[in-house]
Amino acid sequence: MIIELYNMSDKCNITTSHDEFVAKSAQLNHVLLQLTVIDWCGTDEFVGFVDDIVNETKKSLRLVDVNIQLFTDTFDDLIPLLPRYLTRVNPNHVFNMAELSQLHSHCEVVRIIEKDDFLTTHNLTIPLFNHNDCIGVINFNGVIESDIPSSITLSFCCAIGKLIQRNFRLMDNELCSGLSMLTTSQSQDEFHRLAFFDSLTGLANRRLLNQTIETQYQLAKKNQVVGALLFIDLDFFKAINDSLGHAVGDCILVEVAERLKEIPRSEDFIARLGGDEFVILLADLSENPMHAEQHANLLAEQLIERISQPYLYKGQSLYIGASIGVTLFPSKDQHADDLLKQADTAMYQAKSNGRKKVSFFNVKMQRKADKRLHIYNCLKSAIAKNELFLHYQPQHIVNTGEIIGVEALVRWHLGAEQLISPAEFIPIAEETDLIIDIGIWVLQAACRQFVEWQAQGVEVPQLSVNVSTRQFHDQNFVDSVLMVLDETGMDPMQLNLEITESVVIEHAEEAIRKMTDLKNIGVSFAVDDFGAGYSSLSYLKRLPANELKIDRSFIQNIPYNVSDMAIVEAVLAMAKHMGFNVTAEGVESRQQLEFLKRQHCSFYQGFYASKPLSAEHLALYIKRLQG
Ligand SMILES: [Mg+2]
Repeated sequence: MIIELYNMSDKCNITTSHDEFVAKSAQLNHVLLQLTVIDWCGTDEFVGFVDDIVNETKKSLRLVDVNIQLFTDTFDDLIPLLPRYLTRVNPNHVFNMAELSQLHSHCEVVRIIEKDDFLTTHNLTIPLFNHNDCIGVINFNGVIESDIPSSITLSFCCAIGKLIQRNFRLMDNELCSGLSMLTTSQSQDEFHRLAFFDSLTGLANRRLLNQTIETQYQLAKKNQVVGALLFIDLDFFKAINDSLGHAVGDCILVEVAERLKEIPRSEDFIARLGGDEFVILLADLSENPMHAEQHANLLAEQLIERISQPYLYKGQSLYIGASIGVTLFPSKDQHADDLLKQADTAMYQAKSNGRKKVSFFNVKMQRKADKRLHIYNCLKSAIAKNELFLHYQPQHIVNTGEIIGVEALVRWHLGAEQLISPAEFIPIAEETDLIIDIGIWVLQAACRQFVEWQAQGVEVPQLSVNVSTRQFHDQNFVDSVLMVLDETGMDPMQLNLEITESVVIEHAEEAIRKMTDLKNIGVSFAVDDFGAGYSSLSYLKRLPANELKIDRSFIQNIPYNVSDMAIVEAVLAMAKHMGFNVTAEGVESRQQLEFLKRQHCSFYQGFYASKPLSAEHLALYIKRLQG
């Protein structure tokens, strides 16, 4: 690599309190670049920063001119602070945005736009991006010496572009609102407060936390004592924010911050990372790791209890909880900047253990988290690589054994050999928008197959397709279903969408509206995994669904578990009154089927009839049934 970025705090000569980096190239002058946002707050330092890079770049590359043009109006407050080569322009007159975006997607950051033969100069243009939006360009004008800019010149310009870009992004995210305040009151205290403290709760922010972690980590190592980092994430906070609004959510966050201050020792350090995430750094708990662990655990449990006490709002009590992940430090093979990630991983485990829990980080957990990340990364390209495929499980009428439909189930063949279980990859997809793409792919592929069966004379009465909560709540959900129906020629009357109860618990009105829209064109709905989550009868009553699917966990222990049998009986009785058909999932034995028959259950699916089959085998299965 030609340009190397590395931390060289001993060579920094501007200020000592900031992170500073030096861009170094074997053949270019050293250029000092400051990377933290705080450096951009003060006018002098901001201009100084840009001056430093621009002047050094001009000198090193023998440039006539460097021009940084911002396309955006995001930085209004910044404009008066800009040095003369930093201007704001209207993007439409200056540059073709699509062209720039394309450049960006192909990772060619630098582009030669023209060459003036007479002067043997080149214009290099580097687009600046804030996330995916092009917010400006840097024009380097007049790179001399040869016809084609050398690779050193290109990578140097590239690196500068990336550094500037990164600073814009940080600034946009974190201090945009701060800047307008700074132009009116430019006191040092104000800079400090904005840069290091969370404006809502007054707790330290991520930046100050990172610095403190670094210091305390080194101290703990030096003094051979053990400390702990607690990562706190509120449970059910989103529900309050969504239903009662951000103002109420903010009041709760302030109250949580106050409660957090009550329990730790005065020397412990509390920060808010953002959203509903808080961190407490407990330095120097004990010389003995076991004692340190006990202390941290006790404190974490007290914190959960305190946070879980009700919050009063307009005379009513609101309830939230907290999940806490803990990591101890220092430990072998651990660096200061691993702490947050480790505690976050442990917090994630605490959440999946059922919320309001404390979980300590261990190496096994890290391996699990790494594996999840690996699966997520592979899954991102699974559709493009044609690695997903469908199996179909037949559904039968309990009384007659006739086939009533099939449920499409997604499967994933990673690479040539490895079959990844849906139980493993679906939850990972569901945590991200990946599930939306996968869901649409499944719907498309299943409908296409269904239409193909019809063309082959294979008569399947109905196709059931699972829709995840995230996919259902996507604003394009209804349109995407209509598009698939249109594209594939699938008859909506034969399509049944399986949703879970959680779809209705959040945003009930919106859910009912979407379901009604699709129901009006003939699509039917089933409530999947019924009984496994929170069942709210008042919502259920209003749902435009036709069918309940009893979760397999209630079926599997029939006829040995009396209470499961009682639950199934009760669900069937209730469904009958409410006018729902019921499908029992996971039926594996004759006794189970006999029981369902006695209880007048309508449909079933499960290994007793057939495991999920490939499209070809399903066609054979149906032909065999139909004699
Ligand atoms: Mg299902």
